Amino acid sequence: MQWDRDAEEAIKKVPFFVRNRVRRRVEEEAGKGSSDRVTLAHVHACRERFMNRMEEEVQGFGLDRCFGQGGCPNRAAPEGDLTGRLEPILREAKLRDFLKTRVQGPLKLHHEFRVSVSDCPNACSRPQIADVGFLGARRPRIGSAPCDQCGACERTCRENALVLPENGEPVAFDPEKCLACGQCLKVCPSGTLEEAQCGYRIQVGGRLGRHPRLARELPGIFSQDRAVRVLSSILDFYKHRNQKGERLADLIDRVGWEIFLEEIGR
Ligand code: SF4
Ligand code: SF4
Ligand code: SF4
Repeated sequence: MQWDRDAEEAIKKVPFFVRNRVRRRVEEEAGKGSSDRVTLAHVHACRERFMNRMEEEVQGFGLDRCFGQGGCPNRAAPEGDLTGRLEPILREAKLRDFLKTRVQGPLKLHHEFRVSVSDCPNACSRPQIADVGFLGARRPRIGSAPCDQCGACERTCRENALVLPENGEPVAFDPEKCLACGQCLKVCPSGTLEEAQCGYRIQVGGRLGRHPRLARELPGIFSQDRAVRVLSSILDFYKHRNQKGERLADLIDRVGWEIFLEEIGR
């Protein structure tokens, strides 16, 4: 749908963590009036609704994604639509109904359980501040094909995880520094660098608000199937342990990281 320039400017002022949702709502608003373009009046009408009837807008969860599937060249995630598989799980968890049984007073957007999917470590959808964040990951290993000593991998790696020794030795790989962006795999002409793993890194317990914090990472790289199962396990933990509608970060603090890992089967 076409957006007027002033409507576009107005939507940019909406906090980023609800911007996509408000954008969809604004387009619905315009569609209801059979308009084929979005005007500033549609944005204002929607903003009023969010300000004055916020509880009706709370759906219990937020799910964001980056633009990786739109053809971003940095994409490191495996083929397939992880977000499309996560959404029904979040819907089936009936988180809005659940939160109503836990939160005292009206539901607000900050009570929602937030999930974010980024298709590479650049993390454009900010998975580090979501309750559960997924980051597409492709990790290399040194294979048996002879190295051309071209240095392309060393020049490409922004983490200095690949170093080509000057004495003609094979390239050295430091997995501790590697963020699994997969870029080195694209430039190696000899096939010396092979794909060791492709999937998702998973981070948990990020949040904004009065006590912001960055998420912690679960160990390992997860296939898409396993990533889906991990979200289900975390939702079970969240619903089982939640007393007052706390965010996942607070639950993990109360219960302890090790018990959290144990209860989600890690
Ligand atoms: S997170 Fe990575 S894949 Fe997704 S849009 Fe950003 S750069 Fe592209
Ligand atoms: S995957 Fe990315 S971070 Fe890891 S070695 Fe390759 S270029 Fe460096
Ligand atoms: S890009 Fe491949 S061939 Fe070139 S130095 Fe690195 S490992 Fe060797």
